[in-house]
Amino acid sequence: MTGMSTPRSTSDPLSPASPASLTSSLLRARPYRFATLAATVDNPDPGHKDQYGSSSVPIYQTATFKGMGGQYDYSRSGNPTRSHLEHHIAKISNARHAFAVTSGMGALDVIFRLLKPGDEIIAGNDLYGGSNRLIGYLKEHGGITTHHVDTTDPETLLPLLKDESHKIAMVLLESPTNPLLQIADLEEIARLTKRYRPEAIVVVDNTMMSPYLCRPLELGCDIVYDSGTKYLSGHHDLMAGLICCDRDEIAKGIAFTINSIGNGLSPFDSFLLLRGVKTLSLRIDKQQANTILIAQYLDRLGFKVNYPGLASHRGKAVHDRIASGPGAVLSFETGDVALSERIVASTRLWGISVSFGCINSLISMPCLMSHASIDPAVRAARNLPEDLIRLCVGIEDPADLIDDLEAALLEAGAVRTVDEASTAARGERLNLERIGVGRADDLSKGLAGLGLDGTESAPGVCRPKVETIMTSAPGKVILFGEHAVVHGVTAIAGAIDLRCYCLAEARADGLISLVLPDMAYSQTWDPANLPWDKVAPFPPPLSAVLKSGPKGDVVPDQELLTLLANQYISHEAGQNLKAVQSAQAFLYLYMHVASVTGLRPSQTNTIRAGLPVSAGLGSSAAFSVSVASALLYSHGVLPVPGQQSPATPHSVESEHAHLVNSWAFVAEKVLHGNPSGVDNTVSSLGGAIAYRRAISGRQEQSLKILKGFDEVPFLITDTKVPRDTKTLVAGVARRKLEEPDTIIPLLDSIQRISDQAEQVLSAAGAHSRSEQVATLARLVEQNHSHLVSLGVSHPALETVRNKTRDQPWGLATKLTGAGGGGCAVSVVPDGFSNDSLLSLRSALADIGFETYSTSVGGRGYGVLVPPAAGSADEQVESAEGGVEANAIPGRKRFEEAPAEDLARWAESAGVWACA
Ligand code: PLP
Repeated sequence: MTGMSTPRSTSDPLSPASPASLTSSLLRARPYRFATLAATVDNPDPGHKDQYGSSSVPIYQTATFKGMGGQYDYSRSGNPTRSHLEHHIAKISNARHAFAVTSGMGALDVIFRLLKPGDEIIAGNDLYGGSNRLIGYLKEHGGITTHHVDTTDPETLLPLLKDESHKIAMVLLESPTNPLLQIADLEEIARLTKRYRPEAIVVVDNTMMSPYLCRPLELGCDIVYDSGTKYLSGHHDLMAGLICCDRDEIAKGIAFTINSIGNGLSPFDSFLLLRGVKTLSLRIDKQQANTILIAQYLDRLGFKVNYPGLASHRGKAVHDRIASGPGAVLSFETGDVALSERIVASTRLWGISVSFGCINSLISMPCLMSHASIDPAVRAARNLPEDLIRLCVGIEDPADLIDDLEAALLEAGAVRTVDEASTAARGERLNLERIGVGRADDLSKGLAGLGLDGTESAPGVCRPKVETIMTSAPGKVILFGEHAVVHGVTAIAGAIDLRCYCLAEARADGLISLVLPDMAYSQTWDPANLPWDKVAPFPPPLSAVLKSGPKGDVVPDQELLTLLANQYISHEAGQNLKAVQSAQAFLYLYMHVASVTGLRPSQTNTIRAGLPVSAGLGSSAAFSVSVASALLYSHGVLPVPGQQSPATPHSVESEHAHLVNSWAFVAEKVLHGNPSGVDNTVSSLGGAIAYRRAISGRQEQSLKILKGFDEVPFLITDTKVPRDTKTLVAGVARRKLEEPDTIIPLLDSIQRISDQAEQVLSAAGAHSRSEQVATLARLVEQNHSHLVSLGVSHPALETVRNKTRDQPWGLATKLTGAGGGGCAVSVVPDGFSNDSLLSLRSALADIGFETYSTSVGGRGYGVLVPPAAGSADEQVESAEGGVEANAIPGRKRFEEAPAEDLARWAESAGVWACA
């Protein structure tokens, strides 16, 4: 153990000249600055001179030492080469004690052994993946729980620090985090911890900074550790971990553990590391200077860059206070996973590798590499963008690094050149612009090509192309594969005949309104005041967007969403949050459809839900699909059925359903961030689908439409128990990591269930109707029991299951969706009498549940066909008693009808053309 007191280093500039007689001694009294300290290795034991005066520390490659009572006896307990290193690390870290072990994770393991069962840790929610893994182990085997909080806001620790019922013994921090480069105020968190929990130990993983840029002990923290594998060694040729602290009792505990378990660093690695540390400041100065240039370059191109060296970084002020430089790691988002993969694959100088801190520059996609061990669901819950690219910058010439990156961006199609000839001829860096956020003239070119740039269509407020239109879209149930789908298993989902309805009506005052009567919400906007300049144009050609809709990989623009939420969507206390989010999705969709057509129709959209909201029945997808279709018809993008041909159609073209689906997916992304696309696809197309998500390196996304069956009656029971889908999904993901032997066979078994369901629902004619229904009932039973084993059922769901299984009903029932509450579905065989159904529904109602008798596998989105011109239906009484042309019958009743009567009202309103 090393216990050297070292002078505090300083970087004060030289003071003005002193009287000549004093100058020399004053200058000698000044403490050395960091670069000098790092380059100068002292002997930890000044009394012992090397017998040959070697200028580099010798490698004492020995396990044992002869004699009794000497300073060293056995290398597990201590070794002179390691002592030199530990002394040196203590000196540059401004610490009283330092220890060298075999890896960064080894260091954290030693630190965790200061805890005892029952202790609790507060840790960041964006920790290095390996630290999370060890925390999971501690919980399982050591009885030590960890509370993850958002450490970018010190206040988030207060409830835990103040609540005495928690045995908080440690606070574990990283700043900046990897790979999101988020900043934790180490100083403030240490202060708060000392105030409320003087006995707790504040631990900092300082790997991203190294002692050159940040010395957390000086900020009041108790222990700091580094993965020496990174900057301290600098050459990716060894693994090491370093631990520093000031407090003697902590040092004693650490020394005891290292000696007991024997993970002290070997003599050879200690020698190598000592050599690396001498050039630490030199390397980081160069790496950091390069990184600043690269961050500015990417920022200028319009990428979202995470780097505390940029003025726009949220945590910059805090970081500048606690550290002396932004470091040499940055990450940036491209908005498209496939594009990021192409960029990474197209670089030549940048090595594709995990880790960082090396003198060579590295590029990686954390979600595919260093953080791939974290389940995708957990990554999503932590807001780790799948398209994120991390750059760990080395000491090469920055011009070469930028050239190589630029070539990769061009090759991958992330940017394109502007005025290439002139800039290249002048020998300047190419003038580039990002593809996908191109210049405004692309839009006008696109519109001109479509004949949409004439007088009537010039961007500006107008009447909708269609005065009044009503659309509807179904909700869905997941029949099989919920939860397992997150891990790559096929899920089967089917449309139900509970629907959402959207009525879009022209208005004359130039305004746009959204009315959600079921949520007592309405809002009106003046289109002239909306932030149109913030709507990024779609990549050309716009004719493709008009025909097929936005591509599936289009991600909503977070900046615009935030702007809409903050300045354009009213959000008063007590207002339904779902309504506020729906308004945001509506406005986002409206503005984007308008940005393609160039029209800003003045209209009122009234939307009603004939299905329960937040019950896992796809109400938000039904909302998105009904709104998207209403906008596409009223803005003239889709032709209204029945207007081209005199015959009244009963179905819409499948191309139209796909177009509606791709726009609805945009709204779904606004509402949910990163949805699978299953709900909107089922809602748009109807029937059922088999869906598998993409798992990188293992399987591509697949989506198969199942057409081999007629609607099957189902009873849906809403337990009304609210669910927390994210937590349930994350719980299964965590169990999969912690208990793979239990969870993976369950997932395999669910895959077999989905395979059988897919087969029976797609092979038309191969199975009789009664066989199909009997197979579904059997699979429903099996899948539910697996969901119980995954731990996502709920007592209320089990009550529903038991009741429906009771005689005389005997139905097969499973939970649907995330579980933990929400809904259950029961297969109703064809011979099941109406009386039995009524008696079962009333038995369920008696115990407080709400039921819906529905069918699965029916129609997709629909549009109410307007009455033919001149027909009697065309003349409809308006609210004021006058006559409206081409209106929807009983418009008033639509707004006021009880939700359960909406379907009946819609059927009586006229002929629907459906997908
Ligand atoms: N801490 C951080 C921030 C890391 O990035 C790593 C490794 O990538 C570690 C700790 C673990 O270090 P080691 O790989 O040396 O065990």
